[in-house]
Amino acid sequence: MLAPIAVTTDKRYAIPASMLAWVLGDPGQLILKHKPVPAPNKSEVLIRIDAVAICATDLDNIYYGPPALIEGGLPFNKNWTPGHEYMGTVVALGPGVDEFKIGERVACEIHAGCGQCKRCRQGMYTSCHNYGMNYGAHDKGHRANGFTTDGGFCEYQVNHINTLARIPDDMPDEVGALVVTAGTAMYALTELGGLVAGESVTVIGLGPIGLLVAAVAKALGAQPVIAVDIADNRLAIARKLGADHTVNVKNIDAVEAVLKLNGGKGVDYAVECSAAPDAVNTAVHMVNRGGKVCLAAFMHEQVKVDIAHVVKNNIYLYGIRGEGKSSTHRAEALMRQKRFDAGLIHTHTFALEDLPTAIGYAKNHTDNAIKVVVKARGVARIGAGAK
Ligand SMILES: [Zn+2]
Ligand SMILES: [Zn+2]
Repeated sequence: MLAPIAVTTDKRYAIPASMLAWVLGDPGQLILKHKPVPAPNKSEVLIRIDAVAICATDLDNIYYGPPALIEGGLPFNKNWTPGHEYMGTVVALGPGVDEFKIGERVACEIHAGCGQCKRCRQGMYTSCHNYGMNYGAHDKGHRANGFTTDGGFCEYQVNHINTLARIPDDMPDEVGALVVTAGTAMYALTELGGLVAGESVTVIGLGPIGLLVAAVAKALGAQPVIAVDIADNRLAIARKLGADHTVNVKNIDAVEAVLKLNGGKGVDYAVECSAAPDAVNTAVHMVNRGGKVCLAAFMHEQVKVDIAHVVKNNIYLYGIRGEGKSSTHRAEALMRQKRFDAGLIHTHTFALEDLPTAIGYAKNHTDNAIKVVVKARGVARIGAGAK
């Protein structure tokens, strides 16, 4: 690390000058190389990355580009390191930082907004109006590691102190990497949906976010929590995470099934995490009058929606963007209290050098993969990674 003078280090954590880092070449092409270890500035720390989880949005960034935005454009061939769901150990402090100590383990939120736009001032920093404005004459200080700045598929990264949530010693690295995923579930439920105890919730699509929506909803006292998917293994995990009812909708109508399970009424809140072609309509027909729908999956094509039903029934539709208003800290609090075991969604761990294989598992759901984690140390290589 080429550090400015006022950076604090500690000899317990020797920091090398360079590190292994994956960078994105052409779409879908990941290249392993050496990069300098970055140095923290004011209000920043250097994190030694101990575990990084692969998210469906990483696949969007790596194969298509957006929502990654590097120097005002597509992220390809810009020496950019993807990866955004990571945790690690604080190993160096930027000038003036006394909020964290070297050696503390932290989960890292993605978004450090610009801090000056209207949304940042409201705490909605994941909807920062200066997203990606962090280069050249456009430097507004915005950072979203793994989207607009270098991310976590490497050994060290710099994070703003606002993005850090301390985690307890007994939380494994792999679970710590899922705090930000649970933070997104929390943001959907409380900040967007205004969920209070006793309200009914359905979650459609049990990927990592959907599964943690079921877990966080139950931990917050939702009743009933109904989980909907077409894979029995994922429905079984949803039950372990706290879902009261699970419905395999491979051969039955999801709306009918949910209404039946909630006394003939729709639910108060439906969270759509599947991106199935008709899932938005399923969700809006599943909520009761005055109910709410959160759309948490990226559709790659435009879909038709029964807007007349939405209008006539006073249904609220929310998009969601990340994990704003410090929801990650509240999710970590539930995990610290062991209100649910997020580790149930972690299925595979690979060495950092085997990232392309790990991404293949996440993309193709190989061996029933749900959350796939890579670690820079402590995991044997499988020998199939890039050179
Ligand atoms: Zn993610
Ligand atoms: Zn902003």
